[in-house]
Order: sequence, then C-alpha cells, then structure tokens
Amino acid sequence: MATLICVQGDITTERVDAIVNAANRAMRGGEGVDGAIHAAGGPDILRECIARFPDGLATGDAGWTTAGRLPARWVIHTVGPNHAAGERDRTLLLSAYRRSLEVADALDARSVAFPLISAGVYGWPKEDAIDAAITAIRSAATQVDEVRIVAFDSATAELVQERIRQAESTV
Ligand code: ADP
Repeated sequence: MATLICVQGDITTERVDAIVNAANRAMRGGEGVDGAIHAAGGPDILRECIARFPDGLATGDAGWTTAGRLPARWVIHTVGPNHAAGERDRTLLLSAYRRSLEVADALDARSVAFPLISAGVYGWPKEDAIDAAITAIRSAATQVDEVRIVAFDSATAELVQERIRQAESTV
C-alpha cells in the first residue's frame, strides 16, 4: 500500500513524478485545478491532450500527458463525475482514483499528487469526496510509494488529515 499524506497548497508546484488533473471529458482545459495546470504547465499539455485524446476521455477514466513546464514529469488527467450535473454514481469517483494510479504504474511513477477530484466545480459533497479519495487510494494495488492529496485550503487539509488518521486507526 502506498503511503498516503495530505498537504495544503497549489498542486502545480508539487515536486512529484506525476500530478493528477481533475479534467473534463473534452480534455481541452477548463476551470479550477484544470485551468491552473494548463496555465502553469504551458501549451505543450494542451497539444498532447489533443494529439493523444482526440475524442477526450470517459468519466472515471484517466490518461497521461507531459507536464510541460511544471516540476512534475507527467500530468495524469482524469474525469470525475459531475455531481452538479446529476452524475452521482460514486463508483465513477472511485474509478477516477483507481485508473489514475493504474496510469501512474504504467509510467513507473513513484510519487503522485491528487487534487480532491469532483469536489470543486463538479460539486461532489466535500466530506464524501474526501472519504472516496482515501478509500480508493488505500484499496488500490499500486507500485506507487507515496500518494499526496493536495488540499487547496487549510480547513480542507485539516479535514483530510483527520480522515486519513481515522482510516489508519481502523485497520
Ligand atoms: P472538479 O471540476 O473535478 O470539481 P475543480 O478543479 O473545480 O475540479 O476542484 C477540485 C478540487 O481542487 C477542489 O477542492 C478545489 O478547491 C481544488 N483546487 C482548485 N485549484 C487547485 C490547485 N491549483 N491546487 C490544488 N487544488 C486545487
């Protein structure tokens, strides 16, 4: 099982092998963390998205591109369910984490940073988004050594840290 930690900050600055992007099905950039990754990483990321994913990605799936100018080596793009638009199937949210870690394994990435997928514009209730993230990461059979959940604000980071502690004390 990968070591799971939570840090607070902007995921684009994380020094890990791969950062995960909470993308959308079109895979052509968007709001929130998606916009921040494309803005900080530069145009090579979008160019590769177009070349490698001409038809975009299905909800719950993941794929990778270069990380452009970011400190990470790769961006793993995944599509969480859009709760605000009525996509409420939790298995799709779990799948977004699981598929991202499968892609990380294919890349031989040893450290991966995730945002809280679907917890922003897509409107997944935050506490359940945190629990889904922890459950999916802890149950994944992955070669990744360290997984970081990157929370954008300190209140969310504290909540994630508390939920990780609880999950680890109930093994
Ligand atoms: P989604 O569309 O999947 O909901 P968002 O990007 O809107 O994705 O939000 C996902 C989570 O990422 C939210 O908790 C949001 O606060 C957070 N977030 C937004 N920008 C960043 C960033 N630069 N680094 C880390 N987390 C971010």
